[in-house]
Amino acid sequence: MTLTATHRVFNFSSGPAVLPEPVLLEAQRDLFEFPGAGMSVMEMSHRSRPFDRILEEAESTLREVAAIPDSHAVLFLQGGASLQFSMLPMNLLPPGGSADYVITGVWGQKAIAEARKLGAVRVAASTEAGGFRRVPRQDELDLDPSAAFVHLTTNNTIYGSQWPAMPDVGDVPLVVDASSDIFSRPIDVARYGVVYAGAQKNLGPSGVTLVVIRKDLLARSSSSLPTMLNYAVHAEHGSRYNTPNTFGIYILGLVARWMRAEGGLEALGARNARKAAAVYAEIDRTGFYRGHADADSRSLMNITFRLRDESLEDAFAQAATREGLDGLKGHRSVGGLRASMYNAFPESGVEALVQFMREFERIHG
Ligand SMILES: *Cc1c(COP(=O)(O)O)cnc(C)c1O
Repeated sequence: MTLTATHRVFNFSSGPAVLPEPVLLEAQRDLFEFPGAGMSVMEMSHRSRPFDRILEEAESTLREVAAIPDSHAVLFLQGGASLQFSMLPMNLLPPGGSADYVITGVWGQKAIAEARKLGAVRVAASTEAGGFRRVPRQDELDLDPSAAFVHLTTNNTIYGSQWPAMPDVGDVPLVVDASSDIFSRPIDVARYGVVYAGAQKNLGPSGVTLVVIRKDLLARSSSSLPTMLNYAVHAEHGSRYNTPNTFGIYILGLVARWMRAEGGLEALGARNARKAAAVYAEIDRTGFYRGHADADSRSLMNITFRLRDESLEDAFAQAATREGLDGLKGHRSVGGLRASMYNAFPESGVEALVQFMREFERIHG
């Protein structure tokens, strides 16, 4: 039996999240026997010819789609974005150095907590006092020009805020946790020291972490680091110092190909902007709903909102689930509702959500 779209709900999960249907169908078709290999991708040696090609193609397609320049290495690691919270300072924060962190939500707090265990850190700005409803303005950043790097979270998955553009951090390497908006719109990778993301929101399944790192920064990785936590080792071995998540890398490659077929980051960015605008317009229409994030910091990926009458929120989420709109309950630390709409989330699902919101308001408003 072949699964078709008719069995599938609209999946608003914040992660692991919806994947492109053509990717799932291709993986299903080739699961039993990868063409020409006589075995499944899951059964292949990570050093076999067919897997060489899968890995090379995943990297080259990502490089093409996101215009990743030769100045940057592409690593497929494990341990999630959360392990990067430790690996980054281990590798990039030299003894006696200090790193700047911009705190715009829970993930940034977790990142700085790990860095503190390893070296000196400064909070260059935090929007916690306002309940993490926005990202800081350029003039609120207290940056140390001699910092080893500046770390920020590009999109705040839990609070539903996003940097509309990256701030100016001078010559200090900009290091970003882009787990929930990576490649959701065009990006000038050359401007970054490191871009990293757990794959399970915008790129593929959980268990792969994409790390795009400026090659000159690899020189900072000390040979005294634990081998598996050393970026230079992973770069030198082409992400195959040990056994990587072979199946995850395969799916990531299929997602990259899908992104290219959809028209690349330009087209995906335009679509994501359209999708988010439709839901925010409905949130703002009458006052029955209200958005969590400030208007100029609103995320195009995770839309957080409340009902004016918060006691109706559980009923909203339950009724939505019955209508095939799954995963709308907000994160426990914010409450309310959250619609996560990553690259693979279809516009038809956005229309269905807007229709549902209108109908719910008509009945309960
Ligand atoms: C989901 C998420 C994480 C955590 O990712 P793991 O891969 O589970 O470690 C970190 N940062 C951001 C911004 C996220 O959205």
